[in-house]
Amino acid sequence: MFTKEKFGMAAEITMPQLSDTMTEGTVVKWHKKEGDKVKSGEEIADIETDKATMPMEAFDGGTLAVILVKEGEKVKVGQAIGVIATGAEKPDEVKQKYSGKGASAPAATAPAPAPATGKPAVKTESAPAKGKYQYDIIVIGGGPAGYAAAIRAGQLKQNVLCIEKETLGGTCLNWGCIPTKALLDDGAFIRKLRLHSAEHGVGYKDLTVDFNRLVARSRGIAEKLSKGIEHLFRKSDVKKEFGVGQVLGPHRVKVTTAQGSKEATANHIIIATGSRATPLPGAAFDGKKIITSREAMNLAAQPKKLAIIGAGAIGCEFADFYNAIGTEVVLIEMMDHLLPIEDEEVSILLERVFAKREIDVRVKTKTDKVEVTPGGVKLTLSGAKAGVVEADAVLVAIGVTGNTDGLAGPGSGLEIVKGRVRVNPKYQTNLENVWGVGDCLSVNWADQPEMEGYRHPDLAHVAHHEAVLVVERITGHQKEGIDYKAIPGCTYTHPQVASMGLTEKKARATNRKLKIGKFPFSASGRALAAGEPEGFVKLIFDAEYGELLGVHMIGEAVTEMLAELVLAKKLEATEEEIIEAIHPHPTFSEAVMEAAGVADGRAIHL
Ligand SMILES: Cc1cc2nc3c(=O)[nH]c(=O)nc-3n(C[C@H](O)[C@H](O)[C@H](O)COP(=O)(O)OP(=O)(O)OC[C@H]3O[C@@H](n4cnc5c(N)ncnc54)[C@H](O)[C@@H]3O)c2cc1C
Repeated sequence: MFTKEKFGMAAEITMPQLSDTMTEGTVVKWHKKEGDKVKSGEEIADIETDKATMPMEAFDGGTLAVILVKEGEKVKVGQAIGVIATGAEKPDEVKQKYSGKGASAPAATAPAPAPATGKPAVKTESAPAKGKYQYDIIVIGGGPAGYAAAIRAGQLKQNVLCIEKETLGGTCLNWGCIPTKALLDDGAFIRKLRLHSAEHGVGYKDLTVDFNRLVARSRGIAEKLSKGIEHLFRKSDVKKEFGVGQVLGPHRVKVTTAQGSKEATANHIIIATGSRATPLPGAAFDGKKIITSREAMNLAAQPKKLAIIGAGAIGCEFADFYNAIGTEVVLIEMMDHLLPIEDEEVSILLERVFAKREIDVRVKTKTDKVEVTPGGVKLTLSGAKAGVVEADAVLVAIGVTGNTDGLAGPGSGLEIVKGRVRVNPKYQTNLENVWGVGDCLSVNWADQPEMEGYRHPDLAHVAHHEAVLVVERITGHQKEGIDYKAIPGCTYTHPQVASMGLTEKKARATNRKLKIGKFPFSASGRALAAGEPEGFVKLIFDAEYGELLGVHMIGEAVTEMLAELVLAKKLEATEEEIIEAIHPHPTFSEAVMEAAGVADGRAIHL
């Protein structure tokens, strides 16, 4: 909602800043004409930014007295594009005062976007929507945690506001899960053509890759999905504000938009501010040669050689994609194996596949120094594969840090630990009715000794489920908590990796008697038909009770197959029940049934 008062009761509608990089915007469409009544919160125009076209809402109700910027015209952020006559002021008089003015410059009347110093212009709104607060729930952040919380709250008839400082959909839709999968699928397609076309009887003269086209497809999908969230917000009656949220204390949030700051109040506040890439000490991100995954998925040109530090899911996925399209890749990992949290057998197989494709895999290797050179970067490595590596750029994918800078307002007392919002296992922060969900969390498991040493998993589906759970609980629904020992995780390399629960090493450390079944895709008719014999399904059961303790899969379709085992775990299915569930033939999923059969000594196809 973007207006500000200029004189009398008239309120100028100004060009909002809808993203960090936006400096100007185009009025694509006016939804109102001069003389129309406008309600506060009603969409009045569509604005095109450097990233997307977004609807813009009126902050004040009244009559649209004058349109200063016509459809198709571009103006700077902060410039007035129209004026609403509010209160007793006559629209005609307002129009007369503005006649011949056109769009006014933002200068004197536009407050600075985010006051970094000096006194913030906090304005206390006074119209509570319900009870004594303006909103039932304010959600800070519009990623998979924030938007899911807001939509579920809307479905439960809560008066909810979602504040997002950049783009709805957060990292996941815009810069994470989705755009990377678009690139990886293109990469797999190209690799299949390059390496396997002959065996499928396909021939071609020249295979060319249009890197910019790949990137544009991926960006287009991200943009489309982000727009989809706006639609879902409208459907569930979620109000949104593009700006920065700050917790001022229980029930109070400061919202800073391009137009200035104001205070909003709610019975509950849900913090869902997510995370960003962690830099390597001594190698600050410069966005060009020392880059995060954001830049790696949106480069202007394909690098000839890319170094990647960190072989977790993000590092391995980018190694897979860039290798597939012909970039020379060096993948550096300090731990013993790629994907260090996965079962060792899975990591070792992926390592072999990567090495066969001539990715320069350097495990047990530490990056001591990163230097920017005129041609790119120079890395000094120590450990198993020590040496000097030169590349066009280095992607640093060593983990994420919570987005908590400036989140706790002065004197709010909100507890932040090592850059993350501290919550208890019920997602409560130290402030009354202030909750945290998603990537920004640090969970204090102190009361649950069995969780000792456990880290909050920074995954979109975890963020989503935590958010829905919190909203349902605060609206009075009794809901079972999340079992953090059975969180599914996927890596979308080719072959894919999918897992849940204990690795074999950890399962053995429990001293339980185990039954382990492993079934290779080389024995699966469906996998052979697809030309994808690489990989296996490995299931770990408690021998005494049949409890499914661990799932470790690597192969073509395993990320889709994992959900079956998540459900099996939730419903406490034993290996016997998995074997007896009829799996359709021919499918990759038969390998699950067969792996359970191997554990029980009665697999048919092995
Ligand atoms: C390259 C990459 C690939 C990934 N792939 C996968 C995958 O395949 N599967 C998977 O499960 N996970 C994946 N992830 C992780 C996943 O993206 C995150 O776990 C998920 O996005 C977390 O959701 P969130 O809502 O907690 O945070 P985010 O998605 O980070 O959203 C937080 C939002 O809050 C906004 N915000 C921050 N501070 C403020 C503030 N003060 N005021 C207002 N708004 C604010 C941000 O702009 C952002 O939009 C990937 C991540 C990356 C980087």
